[in-house]
Amino acid sequence: MFITEIMKSHKPAFSLEFFPPKSDEDTALLFRTLEDVRRLNPSFVSVTYGAGGGTRDRTLQIVEQAKSIIGLESAAHLTCVGHSRDEIKGILDDLVNSGIENVVALRGDPPRGEARFAAHPTGFRYASELTAFIRKSYPLCIAVAGYPEGHIESPSKETDWAHLEEKVKAGADIILTQLFFENAYFFEFERHMRERGISIPIIPGIMPITNFQQILRFTKICGASIPHKVAADLEEIQHEPESVQRYGIEFATKQCRDLLDHGVPGIHFYTLNKSRATREIISRLAG
Ligand code: FAD
Repeated sequence: MFITEIMKSHKPAFSLEFFPPKSDEDTALLFRTLEDVRRLNPSFVSVTYGAGGGTRDRTLQIVEQAKSIIGLESAAHLTCVGHSRDEIKGILDDLVNSGIENVVALRGDPPRGEARFAAHPTGFRYASELTAFIRKSYPLCIAVAGYPEGHIESPSKETDWAHLEEKVKAGADIILTQLFFENAYFFEFERHMRERGISIPIIPGIMPITNFQQILRFTKICGASIPHKVAADLEEIQHEPESVQRYGIEFATKQCRDLLDHGVPGIHFYTLNKSRATREIISRLAG
């Protein structure tokens, strides 16, 4: 089912993002996690796509099995990195033939060691081009990425948000945002997009903090900021894993509650394949 259809009855819509593990052992573990997650009745799960297409088969395998065997509605991420148009077409054909109905259309990050993204000579330069290509030929519900603090390569937030409008005009159905820790960024971003006349659902992306060093690494890569107080609190407890988990769960629960109180249509959780924190947050929000 299309995510946009699911959202009509899931209010709010909770979704969980996973990445394809490299080993068979970790993939088996992920399937057990997905079984656990099913009890939460999430609106959908999504599976990321690695740079250079290295995980192409695993992404496909996981979304397909999550849907057909575990019974979770699934979305496959797809990036333009290293792909010709024909290759993208092949992947989209495979997705549609396996019954997948939702795709997260992305440009992707430059491959490791490369400073700038360089499109394949016959590929796509921007996610908006990929979105237009999908919209023209495939019966898929398309999600695109939005950045409440602006994309890291963009000269300003407003420039990036103008490009997001291009993705919506190219045919996107929903926006999933990058992670952020201060809701004020999200509210400003959402208001700006509404003022631009964008009316599709905008779903905030939340990453429960489970490890301080890891969150420092991620935020550096994606350009999201960590509030000073949160960084200071975490620095103090960083060597006590259980305290960090508890802090992360409390913080994310409060953040989600505030977002939901302001009327967001759902929350997209970045799980890093560890569902404990997300499960606890969702049950606290429901309670
Ligand atoms: P785009 O929308 O193409 O934007 C990229 C940059 O180009 C931005 O700075 C934008 O402002 C600029 N731009 C856009 N259009 C134009 C134009 N016409 N002219 C000039 N500049 C322009 N990465 C992965 O590798 N795999 C994943 O599975 C994955 N999943 C993600 C899921 C979500 C929800 C999010 C938020 C991010 C995800 N990413 C993933 C990360 C993403 O690939 C990177 O942030 C990447 O750098 C940008 O991708 P994009 O689709 O936002 O690109």
